[in-house]
Amino acid sequence: MTSARTQAGVGGARGTGEPVLQLHEVSKVYPGASPVVALDKASFTIHAGELVAVVGPSGSGKSTLLQVMGSLDRPTSGTVRIVGDDVAAMSDRALAGLRAGRIGFVFQQFFLARHATALENVADGMLYSGAGHGERLKAATAALGRVGLAHRAGHRPPELSGGERQRVAIARALAGNPAIVLADEPTGNLDSANGAAIFTLLKELNAEGTTIVVITHDRELAARMPRRIEVLDGRVVSDVGTFNDLDAGLTTERHLP
Ligand code: ADP
Ligand code: MG
Repeated sequence: MTSARTQAGVGGARGTGEPVLQLHEVSKVYPGASPVVALDKASFTIHAGELVAVVGPSGSGKSTLLQVMGSLDRPTSGTVRIVGDDVAAMSDRALAGLRAGRIGFVFQQFFLARHATALENVADGMLYSGAGHGERLKAATAALGRVGLAHRAGHRPPELSGGERQRVAIARALAGNPAIVLADEPTGNLDSANGAAIFTLLKELNAEGTTIVVITHDRELAARMPRRIEVLDGRVVSDVGTFNDLDAGLTTERHLP
């Protein structure tokens, strides 16, 4: 755990406060016979060291928001900046490099290779990082330790529980020491006890300095996170416990129009 903290290079849950992700009036329209406005002028900033829940009902635009935040998709309008770089100004190739080096993704479905061990799954997540084989294995071993799965390194996904599989996926997201981890409904395939354990793990990783955005439709789980961004019909309808509020020692609630 100590080495991970050193690796992250920041001083704890409050982090350094540098903006990692900046969204300004981001809209996303899916074209078609009846176009869908999945995101409608969403604006917020995520700072280094934050732990943020994005909460909203099914169909409210959460996954679209994650795709846009993670540069997996481009917005129809508005600006997305990732560690200061304007996504619109970057080529697909440059974006792929940005994703590989700076963003860790976690999805509801885990997306692990079933014939590869936990260690190989985590190490393979760094294939496009430019790190050599030995370096990848070292980082993967450390990441499995951070999620409490060092003793399962040689196990394959079918030999692991759902909660353990998701922890492997989280280790894979962490291994390259990304600027931010984006998780889309990471507890969606887990029972409530395992889901709660994943949220506890995310809090521990954040306390070590990892910046995390976790998407969920589960209000109870979201309530355990220090900052909550609520989306409804593609709009940010509230943003509670923002970094700046915390910094000022305030507990003010900011409801947006
Ligand atoms: P959530 O993750 O909150 O359930 P999504 O971002 O998946 O919401 O979807 C938001 C809205 O956009 C929904 O109405 C959904 O049907 C629509 N949508 C999502 N992806 C596409 C797509 N590729 N093409 C057309 N409509 C889409
Ligand atoms: Mg979704």
